[in-house]
Amino acid sequence: CVKVKQLIVQRARKSFQTGKTKPLEFRVHQLKNLLRFITEKRRNIADAVKKDLGKSEHGTELFETLGLEGEINLAIENLMEWAAPRPVEKNLLTISDEVYIQPEPLGLVLIIGAWNYPWAVTLQPLVGAIAAGNAAIIKPSEVSSYSAKAMEELLPLYLDKDLYPVVTGGVLETQELLKQKFDHIFYTGSSAVGRLVMEAASHHLTPVTLELGGKSPCYIDKNCDITVACRRITWGKFVNCGQTCIAPDYILCEPSIQSTVVEEIRKCIKEFYTDNPKSFEDYGRIINQRHFKRIMALMDGSTVALGGDSDESQCYIEPTVLKDVTSESKVMREEIFGPLLPIITVSGVDEAIQFINEREKPLVVYVFSHEKKLIKRVIAETSSGALLANDCLVHFTVSALPFGGVGNSGMGCYHGRHTFDQLSHLRSCLIKQLKMEGVNSMRYPPHTAKKMSW
Ligand code: NAD
Repeated sequence: CVKVKQLIVQRARKSFQTGKTKPLEFRVHQLKNLLRFITEKRRNIADAVKKDLGKSEHGTELFETLGLEGEINLAIENLMEWAAPRPVEKNLLTISDEVYIQPEPLGLVLIIGAWNYPWAVTLQPLVGAIAAGNAAIIKPSEVSSYSAKAMEELLPLYLDKDLYPVVTGGVLETQELLKQKFDHIFYTGSSAVGRLVMEAASHHLTPVTLELGGKSPCYIDKNCDITVACRRITWGKFVNCGQTCIAPDYILCEPSIQSTVVEEIRKCIKEFYTDNPKSFEDYGRIINQRHFKRIMALMDGSTVALGGDSDESQCYIEPTVLKDVTSESKVMREEIFGPLLPIITVSGVDEAIQFINEREKPLVVYVFSHEKKLIKRVIAETSSGALLANDCLVHFTVSALPFGGVGNSGMGCYHGRHTFDQLSHLRSCLIKQLKMEGVNSMRYPPHTAKKMSW
């Protein structure tokens, strides 16, 4: 098994070394095949995600394939421009030279995906890897096993088999892969495993992109439109049962609005998922029993304000809101990654900012307010991968925005041209002519007073 994986990696590298991926036409052809794969195998993708996460076909289209198709089309349309030499400003010494940045492929990229959006988080980096002219080993998460199997079976029917092989397997297989040499590793998953990936990468001095998680706070200003804020928060939190890296993890608000927030979220849950989310097709399931138990245990010691129902046999946890949560509670000690929404009361924006800054830098800071000044203050006084005001999740859809974390929530970024740049080497090029040697005399010794006074 180890030997097979080594052979797959060697074959991908060898294939890259033939120079096959250099022509842009080749890359566009592969990207079009990837697009065709998504169109033709839409049903297989939806079936796999349904089995993995209980998600509806519509949900898969919205949160997995639509964004992927957008990213592929963007890359096809803009590849010529992205891959072209980028002239830069010159200085006096190089005024008559050609000075530019030439993006070039890095070589062989390892993409390690997570299970929560098994297609999007695994194939979106691939779009950039292909566009930038790399070979890529694709390692989907073993936790979303149906999606991993479908990817392994179906993707090679569309993409170059040597350059873009899918390798399946769990922790041991991934660790085995990580021993080999890559030119970049693109990892999506938990911060704990991110550390292991980075450690393994350091042996070969391989650069890494780490798309990690964390606890994204959500501050609600008491003067904002709480009804609208809660609609957007309920959507952002409970979609995919809270198993979204950029889901608001917890709410910060003043005590005076806590009960209104709970009441508004109650109405939204009913509207979005009916009185019985368990049998409603747009509300999914927790990925497996291990995560089910982990999430249920996080509720210990907290007061349930809404929901709280569960069914272990189906990995079902009702959309749940916890109130009067303290910073020492179990639910505040790790990323929830499930449908629990704790509310922590603070005295106002000052304390909210302090609360955020006392913790690891999150993937997103959410703030809901009518006041632009307050929003700008939160931007200026906190740090996170992204900041989103008055909505949830939608920054993910803007390809022009670099998507990624900072500090504990990750390093590097992707989406659109950012993926292309992340998986390219931006090579500095300077072309001088062997003429006009006279102008260089000043830099050659001897540095006489006459030369220096010029
Ligand atoms: P996971 O368990 O599927 O692990 C992710 C990948 O790491 C898998 O491919 C798995 O095979 C591999 N892996 C697991 N343990 C390993 C080990 N010990 N050594 C080597 N490889 C190993 O997924 P997860 O970590 O449970 O994913 C959830 C986390 O991912 C959350 O923290 C979430 O916030 C984060 N996430 C981040 C993003 C993002 O874009 N920033 C997107 C999705 C998920």
